[in-house]
Amino acid sequence: MFHKIKNPNTVVYNTLLTILILSLIIAIYSKPVRLNSDNSRYYNSIYKNNNLIFFNDQKCKTCKVLKPARSKHCKICDQCIVFFDHHCVWINNCVGKGNYKWFYLFLIMNVIVLTYATIISFNLIQTIVNDESIGYDEFENFQNELILFLICGLLDIVVTWFAFESFKLVYMGMTTNEQQKWFNIHDLIHSGELYTDNHGQYFEYLPNDDIFLGMNMNDNRPIPVRKEQLTLVRSTEELKNIYDLGFWDNLRERLS
Ligand SMILES: [Zn+2]
Ligand SMILES: [Zn+2]
Repeated sequence: MFHKIKNPNTVVYNTLLTILILSLIIAIYSKPVRLNSDNSRYYNSIYKNNNLIFFNDQKCKTCKVLKPARSKHCKICDQCIVFFDHHCVWINNCVGKGNYKWFYLFLIMNVIVLTYATIISFNLIQTIVNDESIGYDEFENFQNELILFLICGLLDIVVTWFAFESFKLVYMGMTTNEQQKWFNIHDLIHSGELYTDNHGQYFEYLPNDDIFLGMNMNDNRPIPVRKEQLTLVRSTEELKNIYDLGFWDNLRERLS
């Protein structure tokens, strides 16, 4: 049996827990915008390709619709999602345009409730340790409080780290789906293998074969360009992420 908490703020805790459960239910059932033949033209006019990680004239092989930048076909949901972030296993739902806000609310509520639970369980342990009137039997139960504290504390660290990473991506103007694509581009820059023709086209240089490939992995045939015609991209600073509007606008874009 757990030791009784002295003056627990049960109203606050129950309120937070209720909001957490409600946010979980909403996050599970709120569907992101699905790309289809009716809205494809509209979203293609909004989300422009940058010829670096997203490319023109890309059709989804399954849905057969023209994909705007930042969209992706989720294999689990079997549908194309506009402004796709990732498929969240915790809510078994895609996170994309239309339901970012509910995912973030669920994430933030997890951080708040777990932090609150960690503090309460720590205070509980302190109370037991400092209470000289507690007998041997109750000290045996001390391990329950300790386990509770450790579980809440560890989960709190994991969820807080995940929330930090999620909002770091908002700051960087990337979605979870785009993060690895940008890392690949940065790797090419660091190894001196990314070139541009100064007209917005980028090429990957293969030094062993001395050839250039297009950036589109679905169509990266050798491109007949000469090195003298191109400029080496020397630093990530030289690349402009057209999807990065600044933290607050990035956040506003996700919450709208
Ligand atoms: Zn699709
Ligand atoms: Zn999905």
